[in-house]
Amino acid sequence: MISRDQVQRLIERPISGHSILSAFLDMSVNSDNKRTYQVFLNKEKASHQELDSDREGKHREALGAAFARLQRWIDSNFDESNKGVAVYVEVGGDWLEGYQLPIPVKNRLHLDARPVVGPLVEIVNQYRHHGVVLVDRQHLRLMSFYLERAFNEREVTTDPIPAPHDIKRGGFSAPDYQKRKAEETRHFFKEFAVEVENFVRRHRPDDLSILGTRENVKPFLEYLPRALQKMILHTDSIEIDASVEEIRRKLAPAFQRSMDEEESRSLDLLRDRVRQDHMAVAGFEGILEQIQAGKLQTLVMARDTEYQGGRCEECGFLFAGNNDTCTYCNGSVKHQVDLVEELLRLAGNQDLDVEFVRRSALDDLGSVGGLLRF
Ligand SMILES: [Zn+2]
Repeated sequence: MISRDQVQRLIERPISGHSILSAFLDMSVNSDNKRTYQVFLNKEKASHQELDSDREGKHREALGAAFARLQRWIDSNFDESNKGVAVYVEVGGDWLEGYQLPIPVKNRLHLDARPVVGPLVEIVNQYRHHGVVLVDRQHLRLMSFYLERAFNEREVTTDPIPAPHDIKRGGFSAPDYQKRKAEETRHFFKEFAVEVENFVRRHRPDDLSILGTRENVKPFLEYLPRALQKMILHTDSIEIDASVEEIRRKLAPAFQRSMDEEESRSLDLLRDRVRQDHMAVAGFEGILEQIQAGKLQTLVMARDTEYQGGRCEECGFLFAGNNDTCTYCNGSVKHQVDLVEELLRLAGNQDLDVEFVRRSALDDLGSVGGLLRF
């Protein structure tokens, strides 16, 4: 699993002087029930001629040892219920960090001074952390869904007054019992609302879905503070003891819809502003200029975009064109710099909102756009 904070730490990791091998591997099984990442890894390894004379177990090349550490990490850590991994190995150093991902990633391997973060930035910005509440008159279940997995599970049980047939002679009359039961429900719902509040405070989900029978969900909503009511993404009916898989299946369309809606909102806003030429910018050249001037607020990027450009070796300024000298300091410009990766790093450092949209949605705007702060 991967969190925003972990991605941020990767972005901020200081350059160590050693190269970093960044590997993103598709660990999902194909139609023959096989994983194909090994073929990709072997091919990548074979493309480094200096490894021809490297021997397993007695590495003459630091890169050979790094590949071996990567392989060992996969062999001993990969949990087969996952569909992707991101592994970082310091070549000639000690650092290694691996993440298992419940969703597949495209096979990619990079050797660079810094860890490549783009694919992880995309994941943490695309998937939201959904809070889920199951409620009936006597039970409350709370959980989080993130990247199609459930966690933070918590169950609250109560001690209800027994039904009349359990009560010995001299117990409550039926109307009395009904009244006491109604009071009890109010009492429990109040308690449950506090539990939901605590859950949100502790785990900070992006939204909430409330599940249960209609006759319970509707009155329960009224016990929630307004701030939590505003977070509600979806309400639906489900049995209180539903399995996590049943809950996930029930909510999958709502989660997908919220993702699609967010994507459309970002696109509409960007297009509107670009059309009116008002606080928006499109294309790599304009985006790079604005983000490096600290004027960008939201970055909107088409998924799977690839774009190379240059970086001034003196002042670090990034260019979308292929000028050989820096327009600011006259320093020499290094070409073939992955500008998507650089943009996502800058966005992370400036704590900008980043929205990813479907690949073709920004074709006419040069695959990338942004909303400006001022
Ligand atoms: Zn420069």
